Amino acid sequence: MRLGDRTFVVTGAGSGIGREISRRFAEAGARIAALDLDVGAARETLALLPGAGHVAVEVDVADGGAVVAAFERVDVELGALDGLVNNAGVDRVPGDGTEALWKTGEQIVHMSDEGFARLMAINVSGVFHCLRETVKRLRRDERRGSIVNLSSIAGLSSQGTVHYAASKSAVLGLTRAAARELGRFGIRVNAVCPGVIETPMSAALPEGATQGLVRATPLGRIGQPSDVASTALFLASDESDFITGQWISPNGGLVMA
Ligand code: NAD
Repeated sequence: MRLGDRTFVVTGAGSGIGREISRRFAEAGARIAALDLDVGAARETLALLPGAGHVAVEVDVADGGAVVAAFERVDVELGALDGLVNNAGVDRVPGDGTEALWKTGEQIVHMSDEGFARLMAINVSGVFHCLRETVKRLRRDERRGSIVNLSSIAGLSSQGTVHYAASKSAVLGLTRAAARELGRFGIRVNAVCPGVIETPMSAALPEGATQGLVRATPLGRIGQPSDVASTALFLASDESDFITGQWISPNGGLVMA
């Protein structure tokens, strides 16, 4: 699958799935704006990318003003956009009560307002901020485009903590509403709902949790960032030209539609 000489913003590009998506998209011919809270990690991603003209930009996607400034930098450095992969996300924040869940099996009574709100700000508002900046530019330039949002099996099933599950379900709702509005402009919006993928995020799960999920997975293995990157590449490319408002779940059969 080729992306020609298109330009994509990838958020959370400094680690795990975002790094592999950046690599695969660049391999397919795209120029990448690698956005991350950790700009050092985003620069390390750039060093892995084939081709020239990629750029790393520091941003906290939860901060709407910072996202506007980051996209203005992308305008200057890369010019017109063809799409976005909204990948930046977290499955916990400090002090949110997740630790208590691992110890006691209960999270709701332990979860702080601040922890809940911060996770939603990153996983939901962050997705919206980057979607809005991308759509502004696609509309201004009268370009078609493809936007891929990272949800999770936590958005489809009972897996995951309450704030994470709520945030990833919200991403699916946002994806559908945006797809309905933007279809007439040739802008497609889809979601990817990965299962358990081997990244720093899943490595931080408690001992045994990942193994239990892998045992419950019909294909019998943990997913790799490349499994998710292939799905994102398909949704970003013209191979999926008649697909919008949908989700695809690379999860080894752990959750079935
Ligand atoms: P990861 O922790 O390895 O990487 C996340 C990246 O996002 C990091 O580079 C981090 O610096 C960046 N980031 C975090 N907060 C940010 C913020 N506020 N602003 C900008 N960047 C920020 O995670 P991953 O496993 O690669 O996950 C990537 C996406 O895939 C997330 O949205 C996650 O919810 C989703 N996902 C992951 C799994 C899994 O098992 N790993 C499963 C389903 C969905």
